[in-house]
Amino acid sequence: MHLIGYVVVLASVLFGSMTISLAAQIPNVDASTAYEGESAAVNLYFSQLPQGRAGLISVSGSAVEHAEIQVFGRATRLFRTDEGVHYGFVSAPIEQAIRRYEAFADVTYTDGSTESIRFPLDVVSGNFIQQTVLLINNGEDELLNPEIESQELQTIFELAAPVSDDALWGDQGFIAPISGELTSPFGAVRVFNDTYRTLHTGWDFNARLGDPMVSMAGGRVVFAGLLPIRGHYILIDHGWGIYSGYAHLSLSYVTQGQRVYPGQVIGRVGSTGRSTSAHAHVEMIANGNWVDVADFLKLFIRPAAQ
Ligand SMILES: [Zn+2]
Repeated sequence: MHLIGYVVVLASVLFGSMTISLAAQIPNVDASTAYEGESAAVNLYFSQLPQGRAGLISVSGSAVEHAEIQVFGRATRLFRTDEGVHYGFVSAPIEQAIRRYEAFADVTYTDGSTESIRFPLDVVSGNFIQQTVLLINNGEDELLNPEIESQELQTIFELAAPVSDDALWGDQGFIAPISGELTSPFGAVRVFNDTYRTLHTGWDFNARLGDPMVSMAGGRVVFAGLLPIRGHYILIDHGWGIYSGYAHLSLSYVTQGQRVYPGQVIGRVGSTGRSTSAHAHVEMIANGNWVDVADFLKLFIRPAAQ
């Protein structure tokens, strides 16, 4: 499997922006709802979008040149595949209010004309839990400083702002970056030392110091370095606005700009940054919002062999 991933990445390095078979990289989910425009249709591959989740959307139509989705005050680009359908992922912020939203697919056709197709998008509860976390080391109080946390988040979201045209993840989709029990869920409201509240941006996996951490998919490293809270951290761009982050590492084997293949060992589990013991923290951003890693993995279930 690693060898196949490597070949895919190598092919896209050699041929640059040449279109490789994107159709094989689209998640294996059936369209659930379609909204017809005059010359295009919007297809939602979900019925409701929970807070902190990514949802797959496509715009189909033979004369579509460009398409993007407008919702939650943000534009999300869709990308043409070699089937002539434009796909992309919309994401609901963790704290997005629960209600029905008006969304638009802004379509530009090959003759230069445009159309805005309106459709409803329902945000439902992410059902997040509350967790209490005790930081034993009193010397690390500064790591509970909201200023430090907001600066770190700003750094990460600036790194994760570019939306790359190329789907770099590879035809295996996304895989779990580490084997190990999931111990702390995405979106949990976490109370540190009884005083400081924050939202958990990823999943924690029970792991031992030195366990290998692998890239969830093919991509390009946009950051490999030290952050106050995340410690040794790696952020990987997978294309189409999808990024994965790996925190608290003891060792990192990659550098900024490096291409990685799916399943490549990129570092070792550690306890650097705001961490009470060795564990793996893995997080994901889809088009500017934290999304649930575990849920995203399900979006990429590989199609059955044909
Ligand atoms: Zn965590």
